[in-house]
Amino acid sequence: MLRRCTICGERAVARAAPGRRYLCAKHYAEHFERRVARTVEKYKLLRGVERLLVAVSGGKDSVALLHALHRLYGDRVELVGLTIDLGIEGYSSPQVEAAKQNFEALGVEYRVVRLSKEYGFTIDEASRRRKLVRRPTCSVCGIVKRYIMNSVALEVSADAVATGHNLDDLSLFTLMSIAQGRVDDLVKLAPRTERAGRLVSRIRPLALVSGKETLTYVVVLGAPFHHENCPHAPSDGLRPKLSAMLEALEDSVPEFRRMMYTNIVSNLLPRITRPAEVETQTCMVCGMPASGKTCSFCRIRLRLVESGKNRVATSSLRG
Ligand code: SF4
Ligand code: ZN
Ligand code: ZN
Repeated sequence: MLRRCTICGERAVARAAPGRRYLCAKHYAEHFERRVARTVEKYKLLRGVERLLVAVSGGKDSVALLHALHRLYGDRVELVGLTIDLGIEGYSSPQVEAAKQNFEALGVEYRVVRLSKEYGFTIDEASRRRKLVRRPTCSVCGIVKRYIMNSVALEVSADAVATGHNLDDLSLFTLMSIAQGRVDDLVKLAPRTERAGRLVSRIRPLALVSGKETLTYVVVLGAPFHHENCPHAPSDGLRPKLSAMLEALEDSVPEFRRMMYTNIVSNLLPRITRPAEVETQTCMVCGMPASGKTCSFCRIRLRLVESGKNRVATSSLRG
């Protein structure tokens, strides 16, 4: 049966929560942008932000982020795009391509950082050599992305970095942190983290919209995005199980994730004080904030790059 938009009577393309009204493409896009704008206002995400680095992987969430920010604030905040080529075979190139297409379509100035070219290793390599790196691949990838986002933000003098974490991601990380007793880590999941020395402020304007909503938005806009899953995404373990559990819970208790996340942000986060020693030192290799003498990024890079050089030296000696 053909559904009509409850606002204008045009052909409906999606239902919008809360209220679950049927909406046409134009009114769905406006509805989504209103939700993002409310999040920005509620948590004062753009307070003091004149120049904003927008991290775009090329997936649906970050593409939705870029378009919503551009449409809502493009006339008053200077947006600079960033996309990182992580060197994941069959995955990184189409992602970076999609990100570039969006930057160019919107006329947003952007940077592409190639991990292999600028730092001498790839995520595929970190995965193949995880015993040497001593961390799971996604943990290395998270460190790499945060490091590069921060470095580029400093380079382009951005006041903050915007990332496309949505409500599904944040509610899942919240539960994982609680389940693993890492309650201090919850402060990292706030919609806004303030600048601390050379650590640039981070904002999450999609904190209160779900993955389904970001997908509908980019489809409605006709924006190019890459939708394959990363080959390193864990297919078993706690994370996918908790994610499925949250999905099921949301079906029987609508808005559960939003309620849990907003309650934690308003009632729990203000009571958490991070331990004083966290990232108050300076990395002796790169000068960025670190929790020890060397930052996590440099430790990973040095392990991979130095051992790579040794392997080359050994094989040329053999040759
Ligand atoms: Fe990186 Fe893991 Fe995400 Fe792949 S799934 S992009 S390795 S964090
Ligand atoms: Zn309409
Ligand atoms: Zn460093």
